[in-house]
Amino acid sequence: MTPTPRPLPPGSWLGMLGGGQLGRMAVHAAQTLGYRVAVLEPDTQAPAGAAADFHLQAVYTDPEALAELARRCGAVSTEFENVPAQALDRLAAAVPVAPAGAAVAVCQDRALEKAHFAKSGVACAPHVVLNDLDDLTRVGDELLPGILKTTTLGYDGKGQRRVRDHTELLAAFAELGGVRCVLEALLPLAAELSVIVARGRDGALVTLPVQRNWHVSGILATTVVPATGIDARQIAQAEASARAIAEAFGYVGVLCIEFFVLTDGRLLANEMAPRPHNSGHYSIDACTVSQFELQVRAMAGLPLGQPRLHSPAVMLNLLGDLWFLADGTQQEPDWATVLALPGVHLHLYGKTEPRRARKMGHLTVTAPTQADALAVARRVAAHLGLPTDGL
Ligand code: ATP
Ligand code: MG
Repeated sequence: MTPTPRPLPPGSWLGMLGGGQLGRMAVHAAQTLGYRVAVLEPDTQAPAGAAADFHLQAVYTDPEALAELARRCGAVSTEFENVPAQALDRLAAAVPVAPAGAAVAVCQDRALEKAHFAKSGVACAPHVVLNDLDDLTRVGDELLPGILKTTTLGYDGKGQRRVRDHTELLAAFAELGGVRCVLEALLPLAAELSVIVARGRDGALVTLPVQRNWHVSGILATTVVPATGIDARQIAQAEASARAIAEAFGYVGVLCIEFFVLTDGRLLANEMAPRPHNSGHYSIDACTVSQFELQVRAMAGLPLGQPRLHSPAVMLNLLGDLWFLADGTQQEPDWATVLALPGVHLHLYGKTEPRRARKMGHLTVTAPTQADALAVARRVAAHLGLPTDGL
């Protein structure tokens, strides 16, 4: 183990690349621990910019802005997966950066990500990397029906197409712009899980309780913790796999790994994000140390602590669709009624313009028992018109 560096003292500045809601919640956690935060983000209206102690309004690759961030801050992290790895490398020459640019680059590319799973000894979906039309002719039937995914820049189900046969595969490849893709076999999923793992500079490693996730139209809708209907062996395997994946990088910071549980019980890694994750939001209200506090602790060189779930939790995502009535007019959802229910924690990200499928906020229900948390979540979902998947 490398010697533990001295933690950054309170009052120090931490830097964040990206100004979205993940950055905003990290800013809140950092400020709670007495740090000041500078956010580098071009959007003047960004959720994290408004919460930060200093908002550097520039593009992520702006050399002067990066120099300013490095000069001001004792450590820098990212909340945005597609931050150019060169920006992190440039910063790393002057200030500790966690996670490292090399790890972020792997998480930005599905082909590199799958290679990293293999290196970590963790199984993933049968797949092939497709660089060009020539590669398409070599695709075997065992990968069809499948899902064609661009290797970079996909999120919330964007940049992917389901294909039944070779004809559809050709059409989908063209539709996605002929860019480098992976084709994965379409798998029979019994459930989806994810694990938040954090690793400190000293090599200390912790995981948060495994969460079970439900997606609607490719976007996370519901997270339930403890994971319902999943046996203890699969939970233990997901945790061990997440640890192995972080270790194989020598990762520093927070990493989220998504898994599939197949109908035959096998567990496969799907993808990972080099930062806190939407499915880990429950930890703010239900764990003794949240995923955002873990990110701050890892950056600042503080001990990661021993995160523990203190209440069963259900997290419901609040998309912009909620702000629209059937006739298309806009209206603020009725928060007062849901906040009157026991254990409802509302998190809104300060985005002024609701748009369909835009993540505007989330809410977490905590309760003494999982049955109680689910019962309240069902009432919330019914009142707001949210999906009831997983409830
Ligand atoms: P995210 O918003 O999590 O970054 P994404 O758009 O990057 O998502 P994936 O996580 O790869 O995309 O896929 C989105 C969803 O599609 C998965 O959560 C799962 O429900 C389904 N899916 C993806 N790959 C497969 C597969 N090989 N077989 C069956 N279902 C799949
Ligand atoms: Mg995903």
